[in-house]
Amino acid sequence: MPELVEVEAYRRLAEGVVGRRVAEVVAPDAWYLKRGLDAATAEDALTGATVTGTRRIGKLLLLDLDLDLDFDLDFDGARRVLGLRFGMSGRLVVDGQVGVGDLMYAPRLLLDKRDRFGLRFEDGGDMRMQDPRRLGAVELDPPEARLGPDALSVTPSGLAAAIGHGRSTAPIKARLMDQGRIAGVGNLAADELLWRAGLDPARPAGGLSAAELRRLHRHLRTTMSDLMERGGSHEGDLMAERRVGGVCPKDGTPLVRRTIGGRTTFSCPKHQT
Ligand SMILES: [Zn+2]
Repeated sequence: MPELVEVEAYRRLAEGVVGRRVAEVVAPDAWYLKRGLDAATAEDALTGATVTGTRRIGKLLLLDLDLDLDFDLDFDGARRVLGLRFGMSGRLVVDGQVGVGDLMYAPRLLLDKRDRFGLRFEDGGDMRMQDPRRLGAVELDPPEARLGPDALSVTPSGLAAAIGHGRSTAPIKARLMDQGRIAGVGNLAADELLWRAGLDPARPAGGLSAAELRRLHRHLRTTMSDLMERGGSHEGDLMAERRVGGVCPKDGTPLVRRTIGGRTTFSCPKHQT
């Protein structure tokens, strides 16, 4: 499933459409357009617009677009933001190229059936979203303020506030995965991060000591950037042991499997305390 590291790879891929002008909006799947957006509105808002930049907040990929009107400078409505959410199985294809790992050169024809949304550019190339399970979404001007600070750039005090340090009784893992508090930590990354930090995922978030909080912050940044360098959220050290009979790669202790925050969780009962 696309987590922060995959969406960051998609963002880098999407850099390839910056400076290009939209000739056509392709929206064959009405279900995929969310927050009141429909195909006609998307066409009106985006046709003729030029992509001016890409951003990412957690797992939300944002494309900034500019209508490039000759007259005005601050005309309201000239700038739009396209928000892409990848759900459980979404991916981005730019000019036939996929952004992550071994899917990089997947045959184009094979992928076409799962297209949910796309932009065709004046230069003949295109950007498409594909999503077999249809749990992703396309939005116009998404409410960016509702997301917490991005996991890659959150400060120590931002992290403390986000997890409810000193207050929250919710499990630390559930807090970390709450996108409204910290944007971008998915299930696999959360398990990897807490395993590296030696913290029990079920511990109340508010009960971490100051030293534990610093450790969590340090591991948050290094884990996310490690996973990104390795090529995906499934590339963690714990990943191969996420199975029945799996053992801790650090100390060989059989891992515990629980459901925390509604998600399957693996942790080491020995060194994660
Ligand atoms: Zn262990």
